[in-house]
Amino acid sequence: MLENVAGAQVARTPEEVRAWVREARQNGKRIALVPTMGALHAGHITLVDAARQHAEAVLVSIFVNPMQFGPKEDFSAYPRPFENDCSRCAEAGVDLIYAPTPATMYPEGYQSHVEVERLTQGLCGAARPTHFRGVTTVVMKLLNIAQADVAVFGEKDYQQLQALKRMALDLDHPTQILGAPIARESDGLAMSSRNVYLTADERAAAPVIVRSLRAAQAQVQAGERDPKLVVAQLVAAMTAAGGRVDYTEIVDPETLQPVATLDRPTRAIVATWFGRARLLDNMDLLP
Ligand code: AMP
Repeated sequence: MLENVAGAQVARTPEEVRAWVREARQNGKRIALVPTMGALHAGHITLVDAARQHAEAVLVSIFVNPMQFGPKEDFSAYPRPFENDCSRCAEAGVDLIYAPTPATMYPEGYQSHVEVERLTQGLCGAARPTHFRGVTTVVMKLLNIAQADVAVFGEKDYQQLQALKRMALDLDHPTQILGAPIARESDGLAMSSRNVYLTADERAAAPVIVRSLRAAQAQVQAGERDPKLVVAQLVAAMTAAGGRVDYTEIVDPETLQPVATLDRPTRAIVATWFGRARLLDNMDLLP
């Protein structure tokens, strides 16, 4: 039996989702999946809206996935405002929420994983060596349960999006993996569930990330060709504003390998700590 939480239909088990999927299919509906960890913000809702462009039935999963957190990371502290998430989904016209427990996702005896190799090694994978294996494993399970036509992910987690596209391609998964643009606050800061960790001062300083990315983009479009120089300026600007830069790289948008010269499409990708929030952002320098 599906639960009703704050006006939204909620499934707790794969069987419940599969039954809902069967019924939607029988009614001729296309299905879209939007995987999330909850603590939903307007950025997540843009993914729901994008999903709606491709499907008549939209399934949002809400699962704080223990497998993608390192032992010293914020799994316990991660915000879980479940009722509020349900009411946001109801408002956005989401047709079903899948909210399993960790024990349902990974029952006793669980021992299977999905790993995408090269794409997950640098950038976030360097500081978080087990993170992407957790992401690709849980997303593959969600794709298998939902059997959706499309699954929508945000470009905010750009490396994740590329790894998931690769995974679906390599493993012949029929669900089409789609990316959606980064949703930003009015001052440009990329929306994130982790922004709630920021103090008022850190919140005021954090938009330096997007400002410096925009400056880098302008510089490259004006003819700068040296990625080292652009990276150095990005790092200097974020550090001067109180950020602790984890990494800043300018990479090929598909292979995610650093580029030697800025003469073709490239993406700048950054991860910077402000206080206890590790903030991600990225931007095309040359489209
Ligand atoms: P999360 O709940 O943080 O795991 O994110 C769930 C999905 O929402 C992922 O595909 C994220 O890339 C996406 N997402 C999170 N924040 C944003 C944002 N500001 N703009 C676009 N997509 C986002």
